[in-house]
Amino acid sequence: MSKCVLVSGGAGYIGSHVTVELVNAGYEVVVADNMSNCDLTCYNGVCSIIGKELPLVKMDFCDISAVQKLFTEYKFDAVIHFAAFKAVGESVDEPLKYYRNNILSFTNLIEVARKKGCNILFSSSATVYGESETLPVTERTPRQQATSPYGNTKQICEDILRDSVKAYEGINGIALRYFNPVGAHPSALIGELPRGVPNNLAPFITQTAIGKRECLSIFGNDYPTEDGTCLRDYIDIVDLAKAHVCAVTRMVEGRMKDGYEVYNIGTGRPVSVLELVKTFEKVSGKPLNYKFAPRRSGDIAAIWADPSLANKELGWKAERSVEQTLAAAWAWEQHLAEK
Ligand code: UDP
Repeated sequence: MSKCVLVSGGAGYIGSHVTVELVNAGYEVVVADNMSNCDLTCYNGVCSIIGKELPLVKMDFCDISAVQKLFTEYKFDAVIHFAAFKAVGESVDEPLKYYRNNILSFTNLIEVARKKGCNILFSSSATVYGESETLPVTERTPRQQATSPYGNTKQICEDILRDSVKAYEGINGIALRYFNPVGAHPSALIGELPRGVPNNLAPFITQTAIGKRECLSIFGNDYPTEDGTCLRDYIDIVDLAKAHVCAVTRMVEGRMKDGYEVYNIGTGRPVSVLELVKTFEKVSGKPLNYKFAPRRSGDIAAIWADPSLANKELGWKAERSVEQTLAAAWAWEQHLAEK
């Protein structure tokens, strides 16, 4: 019998891509989402890609009785938890909204999942490293004091998972620390759908190219990097999604070396903002209207992953080039424009 995975926040950008890869790998998937930050576009896109309907449960993980009900209706081998708020700036303005939602939903989930022997994968972020003195960062690089309540919820949730797995028998936990997820499924049926003005670089680039935004501001060209712009590790969304399949399989097949494991999910390849812009221009054939602007507060000059632990232990490796990733992001933006 195939194993069943719950994807909380599965109607969103990362969750929808992960759902597709889980189904491709032979898992049954149940999507649960409160739809607070997305519409049905990606869920419908997932169903088109996989050629069948998936259960979609509209629910909020802050409501523990709803979580309990879900776990009595289905038997899950693992849950992947994406259901969380993710806007860094908003978290600074409304910290309690972030602490309440992101932490309560996760503790509720663990509380119920642990009693059912359900393994837990937490979607963490490279933001937990802050500004590291050594680059690239490995999983042993010390975490720094978070610079936003959002980042702090990622650190706190990692710790909650670590402590819970240690205390309660019968469950495993993995935290995946994502670097900068970008791109879209090659079908162009699912992708990133930012509400309002995008905060992130890649959707701002594609929206500028399509004419939704007038001009991209490159935040800072006086950083101590080769071209003066920040360095990041842009990880293709499909590659990133596949890492989840590897991690879930490791947990459900009992191949964990430790009850709680942490992995960097990145390419190991630093790319500057300017390089990303130039590469986009090349693959799309569209010149991009951009200007240099002052640094954005809270940005760090450079961070990229050492992904060798995930390469070795998960048997996972980022495969797609920046060109392929940006071409997919551009195809998705064009698909949205045609709708
Ligand atoms: N960035 C930019 N213009 C934008 C958005 C982002 O120059 O409109 C830069 C930002 O300063 C950072 C990089 O792009 O150096 C990646 O930013 P993003 O918000 O996508 O991810 P972050 O690394 O901050 O999580």
